[in-house]
Amino acid sequence: MKNITLIKGDGVGSEITDAVIKIINAAGVAIDWDIQTAGADVIEQEGVPLPKRVIESVKKNKIALKSPVTTPIGKGFRSVNVQLRKELDLYANLRPCYNLPNVKTRYDKVDIVVVRENTEDLYAGIERQVDEDTAESIKIITRTASERIAKFAFDYAINNNRKEVCVVTKANICKLSDGLFLESARKIASFYPQIKFREILVDNCCMQLVQNPNRFDVLLLPNLYGDIVSDLCAGLIGGLGIAQGANIGSDYAVFEPVHGSAPDIAGKDIANPTAMLMSAIEMLNYTGEFEAAKKIKLALFETLNADIKTADLGGSAKCSEFTDAIIERLAVLS
Ligand code: ATP
Repeated sequence: MKNITLIKGDGVGSEITDAVIKIINAAGVAIDWDIQTAGADVIEQEGVPLPKRVIESVKKNKIALKSPVTTPIGKGFRSVNVQLRKELDLYANLRPCYNLPNVKTRYDKVDIVVVRENTEDLYAGIERQVDEDTAESIKIITRTASERIAKFAFDYAINNNRKEVCVVTKANICKLSDGLFLESARKIASFYPQIKFREILVDNCCMQLVQNPNRFDVLLLPNLYGDIVSDLCAGLIGGLGIAQGANIGSDYAVFEPVHGSAPDIAGKDIANPTAMLMSAIEMLNYTGEFEAAKKIKLALFETLNADIKTADLGGSAKCSEFTDAIIERLAVLS
């Protein structure tokens, strides 16, 4: 039996978590979930949105599945997501984006992997009010973090049969910070002659992604551009409801959907659990549960092919109905 931390957030977090756990149980995977709550709802009892017990649990179990967590704006709390990534040194944010069956989008055959640096850049959280009318944010880029994420991207490319890594910066403007990220990527690229290396400016990258996404393979980006570009890529394949993600470090891995807690649709049983399920499928692969991962993916794809979809994909199925439809198909596959 595997021990895995389950971080239950708020907003749509608890609905999609329940759906995904039901599906994993139906696939017969034996997991002892260490359930941990985080986010706005725990502040009242525990004073902080990310209590120490959550970090301790992931440190003990090494792997976590996490649903979206809201950090209240303007109450002095650091983002739960940023803090978790920092404390566990989850330096690589991996977001594979590819078309799912029967999800109509502008482009076919999109197959992009976004590799985003996860620990620094403007997310270092170093800000100050210079005077009443001026605020300052400091963008931190270090050689160590840049080389480490570049190596992750090239290793990922090799291990997953990818052909090209494209580094995305604004090095013509942020000459020192993005310049260092670019220089680091160039250096690491020189050790991987079998992988094609390309450089692009972030504005041009966005334009080309919406014109012809098929020309991209693995994208390597500093934290902020990575955040923005991965939402763009999610849009290319059908939106945030299906975009999966993982945060990976040397010691720990936390799998979570790209989307936030979607308070606008919370509690209505209409959220799409696919992004969370796709993240869980990758988590199962990571833990060596290849058969179960394959079966769940097949059941998901068959459900979509049967035109059972949630509202974000133009369907009318509730989150619970969509979940049950996947479980029905799983039962036939078992
Ligand atoms: P964050 O800043 O926490 O990343 P965000 O501002 O990107 O959050 P989200 O919470 O991700 O916002 O929601 C963006 C939009 O996408 C909302 O309209 C939301 O309803 C929609 N959305 C997000 N997740 C889902 C989902 N699982 N199913 C359906 N719609 C979703």
